[in-house]
Amino acid sequence: MIGANIKKINQEIGEHTRLIAVSKTKPAENILEAYQNGQRIFGENKVQEMVGKYEILPKDIEWHLIGHLQSNKVKYIAPFVAMIHGVDSLKLLQTINKEAAKCQRVIPCLLQMHIAVEETKFGLNQSELYDILEQLKVNNLDNIKICGLMGMASNVEDVEQIRTEFRGLKTLFDEIKEPYFKNDESFKELSMGMSGDYLIAVEEGSTLIRVGSSIFGHR
Ligand SMILES: *Cc1c(COP(=O)(O)O)cnc(C)c1O
Repeated sequence: MIGANIKKINQEIGEHTRLIAVSKTKPAENILEAYQNGQRIFGENKVQEMVGKYEILPKDIEWHLIGHLQSNKVKYIAPFVAMIHGVDSLKLLQTINKEAAKCQRVIPCLLQMHIAVEETKFGLNQSELYDILEQLKVNNLDNIKICGLMGMASNVEDVEQIRTEFRGLKTLFDEIKEPYFKNDESFKELSMGMSGDYLIAVEEGSTLIRVGSSIFGHR
C-alpha cells in the first residue's frame, strides 16, 4: 500500500511540489518500503527518533525536521539534517548556525508562521517575522539559509477557511521575497499541506507537502 499511496499523491501534486513522507512513529521497515518505491524525502518531528532512523537507513535519504526543535538538541541533527521546518526564533537560528558551522555545513531552514485559528505556542506572527528578518540583515549567519516559510492550517472541516490560511501564507511569502530575498534563488519553499489538506495547499502554491497518514496509515 505504501508504494501505491506515494504514487497516487505524486500524480496528484504534479512536478512543482515535492512530497515529504512524514514517518514519525513508524518503524524503519515502513520507511524502507517507501524508499524502495522511490521516496527519498522523509519528515520526522522528534530529534532522537530521526537520529535513530538516520543511523540505520540509506544515506541518500533527505531528513526534514518538521516539528518543534529545542536549541539544546540541534547538535544531534546538525551533521545530516536536510531542512529544518519549524524555526520560530532568532535564538534558535543562532544555535543552528553555530552547530552547522562546527560541521562545516549550511543548513536550510524555514520560518514557521502561525496561520491557524487554534492557539499554539509555535509559529511566528507577522511582526515577529519582520523582526527576525531585520535582525538577519545585521547578524551574519553564514551557516544557515532561509529557504522559505512553513505553516499549518486550522484543523477544521471548512475548506474555505483552510484555503484562506494557505493563501495568506503565500501572500506573505511574496511580500517578503522582494525586500529581503531579492536575488536569492534559495528562497523558494512554501511548506504547507498535510494528509487532510494537501490538495488545497498545492492549489495555493505549496512547494513541499508533509504527508504522513495518507502514506503510512493512521498513527
Ligand atoms: C505529523 C505532521 C504532519 C503529517 O500529518 P498527517 O496528517 O499524518 O499527514 C505534517 N506536518 C507536521 C508539522 C506534523 O507534525
